[in-house]
Amino acid sequence: MSAPSLVERDRAALWHPATHFGDLERVPPLAIVEARGAWLTEESGRRILDGIGSWWTSVHGHAHPRIVAAIQDQVARLDHVMFAGFTHAPAVELAERLLELGPREPDADAPFYGKVFYSDCGSASIEVALKLSYQSRVLRGQTNKRRFAALQNSYHGETLGALSVCGSPAWREPFGALLSDALYLPTPEPARHEHEDLDFRGPCPELGADSPEAERAVATLEAHADELTALIVEPLIQCAGRMRMPGVGFYRRLAAACRRLDIHLIADEIAVGFGRTGRLFASEWAELAPDLLCLSKGLSGGALPLAATLIRAGFEADFHGGPERSFAHSHTFTGNPITCAAALASLAVFDEEQTLARLPERIEAMAWLRRELAERHPQVVAHRQAGLVAAFVVDRARGPADGRLGLALREAAMARDVLLRPLHDALYWMPPLNVGPDELERLALVTSEIIDEVLPR
Ligand SMILES: *Cc1c(COP(=O)(O)O)cnc(C)c1O
Repeated sequence: MSAPSLVERDRAALWHPATHFGDLERVPPLAIVEARGAWLTEESGRRILDGIGSWWTSVHGHAHPRIVAAIQDQVARLDHVMFAGFTHAPAVELAERLLELGPREPDADAPFYGKVFYSDCGSASIEVALKLSYQSRVLRGQTNKRRFAALQNSYHGETLGALSVCGSPAWREPFGALLSDALYLPTPEPARHEHEDLDFRGPCPELGADSPEAERAVATLEAHADELTALIVEPLIQCAGRMRMPGVGFYRRLAAACRRLDIHLIADEIAVGFGRTGRLFASEWAELAPDLLCLSKGLSGGALPLAATLIRAGFEADFHGGPERSFAHSHTFTGNPITCAAALASLAVFDEEQTLARLPERIEAMAWLRRELAERHPQVVAHRQAGLVAAFVVDRARGPADGRLGLALREAAMARDVLLRPLHDALYWMPPLNVGPDELERLALVTSEIIDEVLPR
């Protein structure tokens, strides 16, 4: 009898995220042994083009030598030390870099952010932001400000606090009884707010600012300002929400309303931070900086789990005083040195490889392929792009009878050695920022083929 394969042993021992047991027969997990740049290598030797940066984490590609070397160097010297009562150079240097690089307000000479709180996944960085906002209200005696606002169709993670501010009922529903009661604001529809006309190299139009949704969202904030402690927003792209792109103008209006109404603005840049939208942080496209800014996914270049919440300078003032005023929150692996060293290396790569300066060319190439693909396929009913994220909404009505459109597209792409993981009817590309022209063309070619295969003309 031959020994069981890795996939068989996986089946016996593991429970995977975002995976139905019923689908394991149809799409068993692939055993990956190596990853380099935009490519994954399977046990069998097959190479797969990673078109979605392994769930939006891969910024400079897999196993960037600079990041690998930084991790090796760090682990050999200091693997971990608890972060209550201790500190170390990687955590301090990374915090200094993030504060220096964080979004600023026009004409301000000082950095907008003054403190960094580390955690170890995106959801945890959201919990930190929500709790900081709420506890600061308690400390100020603003005890009626205990509710959060979020956008419809938003996604902020899976822990119960983060789930409470997910604006999509599908995520909340299974745990509805356990969640706190957030207020959900209308979000412009992509069909009316294409980023088509956004020039991500130059000044940004007021896309979405005068939409009816913006009017209603601001009116709702005004009506509930007394009870709201914070509004949480994914700037520019609601990634998990089928890559909906509500517009920079919409974001700016919300930011201005929050400032005027004493509602904290929390930016969830877990997916859009680190160059995705053409600038280091998506909030740089707005004129007002958010009070709290959450980072994870691309923070370590995608190599290790690390998250950070950036906190407006001065925000901590309410937490000074007696011990009862300290922020009641901790994670065991807060500020792990290896993960911080990886993040510092990733930021160094941005400098050394001029990643942001070289982005417009790649964004342009992606835009050209996107438009061309959309024009040639009547099955594409909407398409959009912000920075190096492009999405195509396809006509569900032409999809498979079992309704598993996203899964069928994913399988068809994998049969062509490309990793795509559509969100229902929204196919998207989110490759590493240094993706090559041939790799982009391969993505476009395969996308075109699978649309024709899965959705008959
Ligand atoms: C991935 C993601 C999260 C959650 O991050 P985890 O590390 O999976 O907990 C939260 N918000 C956004 C916008 C995300 O894309």
